Amino acid sequence: MKRRHFLSLLGILGVGGISTFGFQKLQKSKYWPNDNQFLNPCLDSKLPESIEKHEVILSALEGIDTTHMWDGHVHLIGLGDTDSGIYVNPNYKDVFQLKSFIQLRFYLNASCVEPGIAVDEAFVNRLKSLKWGRGSRMILLAFDYSYDEQGQRLLDQTAFHTPNSYAAQIHKESPEHFEWIASIHPYRKDSIEALQQAVFDGALGIKWLPQAMNINPDSALCDPFYEAMAHWKIPLLCHCGDESAVDGANIESHAYGNPLLVRRALDHGVKVVIAHCASLGKNNFELFTQLMEEPRYEGLLFGDISAMSLVNRDMSALKTVISRKEWHSRLLYGSDYPLPGIIPLISLKYLQEQEFITVEQLKVLAELRLHNPLLFNFVLNRHLTVKNQKFSPIVFHTRSFWTLGTRS
Ligand SMILES: [Zn+2]
Repeated sequence: MKRRHFLSLLGILGVGGISTFGFQKLQKSKYWPNDNQFLNPCLDSKLPESIEKHEVILSALEGIDTTHMWDGHVHLIGLGDTDSGIYVNPNYKDVFQLKSFIQLRFYLNASCVEPGIAVDEAFVNRLKSLKWGRGSRMILLAFDYSYDEQGQRLLDQTAFHTPNSYAAQIHKESPEHFEWIASIHPYRKDSIEALQQAVFDGALGIKWLPQAMNINPDSALCDPFYEAMAHWKIPLLCHCGDESAVDGANIESHAYGNPLLVRRALDHGVKVVIAHCASLGKNNFELFTQLMEEPRYEGLLFGDISAMSLVNRDMSALKTVISRKEWHSRLLYGSDYPLPGIIPLISLKYLQEQEFITVEQLKVLAELRLHNPLLFNFVLNRHLTVKNQKFSPIVFHTRSFWTLGTRS
């Protein structure tokens, strides 16, 4: 693949902002995948002997109680080709809508869906095969439709929909693998009832992607929902910062991704986890920092570290969250699966050049990624180093947060 084709591919995958860098200034090593590999070859999740007991992998588990490792950011996707109720906007299936079409192909490739069976089923089967620590679990994310301010569903402005009932069912069928987080639009007329149902079905949180779903987290329309969330003591996982991976209602404006808008939820006493520590887009990480430094939000405001090592992020945000040890008890591990399975999205070579990882770690990680993107993402994040400082084990011990709202 030619470099200019690769750059447009990154644009399609939602890794925006590259053209603005100026083509000449591009650091080839940052974006160019190792060994020119673009598609995930989907090798067997059983690791080859050469790396299975490699010190790079074993040392990642040191100091970690794997039964407390819950990956708090795993997208549950599919094509809706079973009775799951998953909805995919026809644009994603339409080859003439090229951007959406290619995005979908890459997500499915990253999820290594086995041919010959329904995609919904194959997606879950593959996830189950990805062991990343004895007793560890994945928290699956549902995804609600877009709604307008009158509470009307906006089907053509919805990129995809994964019903709460489906996520709850997958959890119920395999509780040893999966937990789940519901997604409920606060403008829905039945939002409070839906929340109650989700709580009864064991949801550990509520997930929003405000720009794509048309949610203004600072709207008074959200207040009854925040009150109910505070009542049920259920946290909000909110994507903040720019969002370019999913199309939807308000994706162009980015306005609803402003981290300061979650103050309204926090002021209602709702615990908020800001996905990716709002690390995409101009100034968003600075605004996240500002919120983290407000003493009244201690114990209420958290950040998840998912996707922070992707090529489109400003690595200074990653450096900051690793360096600021006092934040670690407020950071939660998440993988943003299936993104770690999309080979061009994480440049190991660039991370090594920036001295986040060593050459030896790079070699093992490059091989590991082709077999098991979940374990790969975990091992990578365990080893990321900034001036001898790494993420503390507590960042990975997320279970008590999701079950009790506390960090231990
Ligand atoms: Zn995500």
